[in-house]
Amino acid sequence: MAHGTFQVPFPVNEPVLSYAPGSAEREELQDMYNKMYNQDPIDVPMYIGSEQIHTSDKREMTPPQEHGKILGHFNYGDASHVKGAIDAALKARKSWAAYSFVDRATIFLKAADLIAGKYRAKLNASTMLSQGKNCFQAEIDASCELIDFLRFNAYFAQEIQQVQPESAEGIWNRTEYRALEGFTFAVTPFNFTAIAANLPAAMAMMGNVVVWKPADTQVYSAQVLMEIFREAGVPDGVINLITVDGPVAGDIVFKHPDFSGLHFTGSTAVFRHLWKTIGENLENYKTYPRIVGETGGKDFIVAHSSANVKAVATGLLRGAFEYQGQKCSAASRAYISDDIWDGVKDHLLKDLATLKMGSPQDFSNFINAVIDRKSFDKIKSYIDYAKDQTDCEIIAGGNCDDSIGYFIEPTVILTTNPLFRTMVEEIFGPVLTIYVFPSSEFDETLKLVDSTSEYALTGAVFAQDRYALTKAKDALENAAGNFYLNDKPTGAVVGQQPFGGARGSGTNDKAGSALNLLRWVSPRTVKETLVPVEDYRYPFHS
Ligand code: NAD
Repeated sequence: MAHGTFQVPFPVNEPVLSYAPGSAEREELQDMYNKMYNQDPIDVPMYIGSEQIHTSDKREMTPPQEHGKILGHFNYGDASHVKGAIDAALKARKSWAAYSFVDRATIFLKAADLIAGKYRAKLNASTMLSQGKNCFQAEIDASCELIDFLRFNAYFAQEIQQVQPESAEGIWNRTEYRALEGFTFAVTPFNFTAIAANLPAAMAMMGNVVVWKPADTQVYSAQVLMEIFREAGVPDGVINLITVDGPVAGDIVFKHPDFSGLHFTGSTAVFRHLWKTIGENLENYKTYPRIVGETGGKDFIVAHSSANVKAVATGLLRGAFEYQGQKCSAASRAYISDDIWDGVKDHLLKDLATLKMGSPQDFSNFINAVIDRKSFDKIKSYIDYAKDQTDCEIIAGGNCDDSIGYFIEPTVILTTNPLFRTMVEEIFGPVLTIYVFPSSEFDETLKLVDSTSEYALTGAVFAQDRYALTKAKDALENAAGNFYLNDKPTGAVVGQQPFGGARGSGTNDKAGSALNLLRWVSPRTVKETLVPVEDYRYPFHS
C-alpha cells in the first residue's frame, strides 16, 4: 500500500572511472581479475524459479585471449528447462505484476548501487575475462551503461505512468500501465554485459516476468548479473536464466500461448528468423506479442574536405577498433574526401602503429581478442578475401593469430570500389574499409552512403563547413538511427543518446529511453463516473 506519490531519484550518468596507473580502482580491478583468473573453475547453474539447476551437459567457458584456459563450465539445458522456466515465470507473474512500481523500481535501483559499489570490479573483471574487453571497455559497458540503464529506466517508467488522460466534469479517467499478459523472452548477445542485463531488467521493471537466454559466450558475466539481481531482491521466477540452444528455446517459447513479448539484441538474420517464427504461430497466442529487436549495422564515417584530419583519424581509430570492432555501432566503412586523405592516412597509420594487442590482463593493451573461433574464422575469411582482390589493398594490419587467443590485427582495407564486399556486409570485427571520393562529388557520395547497405544503425559526418554538415544530416536522414556530427559513431550514453536503428538494424525502440519501456506495458483505460445518470433520455427527446 503506497501512502503517497513518490518521486524516483533524478538520474545522473554514472561517472566513468579512469583506471589510470596508481588509481585505487585500477589496483582493485587488477586484483579481482587475477583472483578470478586463478580461482578453481566455476560451475554456472541455470536459474529457474527458486532453483539453481545443474545438468550433465557441461560446456566450457574460456577467455577469448587464452582459449586453452578453462574459467569454468555452464550447464546446458534442454526443452524441459525451457518449459520449467516458462512455468516458473508464469507462477511468479501474479504477485510481480501486482507489486507496486515503487517496490519494483527500488529493487533495480538497488542493483544499480550494488554495481556502482561492491560488484563493480567483479562485473568488470568477469567481462574482461570472458568477453575480452579491456578495463575501459568493461567499465563503460558492464558498469556505467548498466547502472545508467537501471537508474534512468526507473525514472522513465515513472514518467510514463504520470501520463494520464483528461477528465471531463463528473468523471475521472485513468490509465493503468499493466504488465503484458503472459511471459516475455529476452535473447541477448555476447558483446555487451549491459545489454544482456537490460533486456530482461527493462521488461521486469514494467511488471513482466522473463525467460532470459544469454549468448553462450556471455554466460560467465551473466552469472554475476544473476548474483546481483538476487541480492537486489528480484524475486524467484521473475528473471529465469536458461542456457540452452537458441532454436531449442525458440521452439518451446514461440509455440506457447502465453508468450507475450520478445526483447532481442543480436544479428539481423537471427531476428528475422525469430520474427517469422512468431508470425507463423500468431493464431496460437492469447495476445499479440510485442517484438523489439536491435540488430546489425554497417556503420559509416564520412569526412568532407573541410574536416579536421586529426579528428577524422581519431574517430576512425576509436570508432572502428575499440573492442575489436565488435560493437553494433562500430565504424566499418569510411568515405574520405581525396583532398584530405593523405593527412588522414598519415595520422591513422601512425596511431595504429602505436596500438598494443594482447590480453586485457595487461592494462596497456588497447586491442584484445575477438570473441570466439567462429568469429575469428569469419573475420579472417573477409581479410583473406580482400588479400585476393585487385580493387583493394590492405594498408594496415591483416595478420591473424589464433595460437593462444583469437587475435586479429586492426585491419584497414583501401578500396577503389565503393561497393566492395567489405563496404557492404557486416563483419563484426576489427576491419575498416575506406573509399576515397573526389572532393567535387560530396553529394553523390552521400547518396552512395545511403544506398550501400541494408542497415541504418549509426553514422558520423566530419566537416567544419556547416553547410556540408547540414546537407549530410538531411541526405542521410534514414541512413542511421544514431547520427553523429564531428564525433565517432560509437559510445551512446543512456539518457543522452537513446540508441537504436531502423531498416535492417532493428525496430528502433531506443534502448535507454521511455520509448523502449512503453513496449512492455499494455495500458488499460479506466473511466469512472462519479454520479451515474439515471435517465436514458437525452435533451433532444423532449
Ligand atoms: P547472434 O544473433 O549470433 O546471437 C544473439 C542471441 O540470439 C544469442 O543469445 C544466440 O544464442 C541467440 N540465438 C541465435 N539463434 C537463435 C535461434 N534460432 N533462436 C533463438 N535464439 C537464437 O548475435 P551475437 O553474435 O551474440 O551478437 C552480435 C550481433 O548483435 C551483431 O550482428 C551486432 O550488430 C548485434 N548487436 C546489435 C546491437 C544493437 O543495439 N543494434 C547491440 C549489440 C549487438
